[in-house]
Amino acid sequence: MNAHDSERIAGLLEDAGMKPVQIGTDADVIVFNTCAVRENADNKLYGNLSHLANLKETKPNLQIAVGGCMAQKDRDTIIKRAPYVDVVFGTHNVGSLPILLERARVESQAQVEIKEALEHFPSTLPSKRFSAFSAWVSISVGCNNTCTFCIVPQLRGLEKDRSMADVVAEARALVEQGVIEITLLGQNVNAYGVDFGDRLAFAKLLREVGAIDGLERLRFMSPHPRDFTDDVIAAMAETPTVMPHLHMPLQSGSNRILQLMRRSYRTDRYLGILERARKAIPNVQITTDIIVGFPSETEADHKATLDLCTEAQFTAAYTFQYSKRPNTPAAEMPDQVPADVVKHRYTELHEHQNAISLGVNQRSVGNSYVALVSEQIGERDSNFKRLSGRIEDSRLVHFAAPNNARPGDLVKITIDAAEPHYLIGTGSEVIPTRGGDVFNAKASTMLGIPKLFNKN
Ligand code: SF4
Repeated sequence: MNAHDSERIAGLLEDAGMKPVQIGTDADVIVFNTCAVRENADNKLYGNLSHLANLKETKPNLQIAVGGCMAQKDRDTIIKRAPYVDVVFGTHNVGSLPILLERARVESQAQVEIKEALEHFPSTLPSKRFSAFSAWVSISVGCNNTCTFCIVPQLRGLEKDRSMADVVAEARALVEQGVIEITLLGQNVNAYGVDFGDRLAFAKLLREVGAIDGLERLRFMSPHPRDFTDDVIAAMAETPTVMPHLHMPLQSGSNRILQLMRRSYRTDRYLGILERARKAIPNVQITTDIIVGFPSETEADHKATLDLCTEAQFTAAYTFQYSKRPNTPAAEMPDQVPADVVKHRYTELHEHQNAISLGVNQRSVGNSYVALVSEQIGERDSNFKRLSGRIEDSRLVHFAAPNNARPGDLVKITIDAAEPHYLIGTGSEVIPTRGGDVFNAKASTMLGIPKLFNKN
């Protein structure tokens, strides 16, 4: 979500006449797009800003802007702690950034603009896409849930859905530009439609976007087990472009902890969804998010999470140590788990899941897939390149492929070996795509994610 917001910021600045420069180059404007979901990300901002204090002294015309969730959360604190910051803009104020930069320059005064809520989904903001063949498309912003550990609803507001027509129009335009893979984004994609009273809207959207001629791969993130309905499984199974990957946040394998987290599903419901998904889509791979060390978590709760991972056979789990966020109910709960215990459980879960991931990946050795090439990582010899990409179920694969394979191509591969976090394969046939053609045409200008801007 944040990376896509960065694309929107980049698009707006380019529209305002700026151009990206490489890291390490002299920039006129530096924008931080921040995250506040964990304390660690929070601390990083002030460290990064303090590094720029000297630069600002030697180059007074340099402008520094801070946006995203930290800006929404800390507002005036940012200017107090780093008075040389020129612009602070909230999560709902991305569209105002160029004007705020200009105003800060003309008035020689810091500008802070934080809107509390969105009236409409900001569909019309331009985006600078960092990939020529893969794109994110937002379908909603905000969240109506109240998970007790989560700061997102405070900072992103209530859910605002984008109209289906706008989502489909953006997807169609992207495919016309050469995009072959689209990921639909929302905090809780299954709730899509709550704004316009259609409980089945997400499944309809999958079918409609999935039918766009020229689109090869459709993905989405993240669903919420509470709102997950069987029509989504049916839409996934019946739409060939929807890829067989389900990223479904679990958070804990203990029903007691799920209740304290205010996650309104229990493990039997969660496992039931996985079972129905696997039945309808036999090659589906399931990944998840898990928080370790939520307040009052006991060894028995932790063991329940380990056991659930074994039962669920996740391909991968993104595991996080619980991080206290201000003004969330969990931050005030008694029995916060000591840091050393959290760390120990985190390591244990990580190792446990690594063994499961390795087993899942080893079962794929000898199987054939199609990888969408994302990057070239080297040459094997004069006839073969080393490439990386994602197969249908989203697993990362490193493979050798004939020299005519390029980023943006689909390549048929066979898996030779497995590691916990990736597969190793050999490519054979290249299936050229429009994404590959566009990548080649733009290759010279698309390298790296631009973060710094020069006015021109
Ligand atoms: S569903 Fe829960 S964890 Fe996800 S954004 Fe909403 S409140 Fe946060």
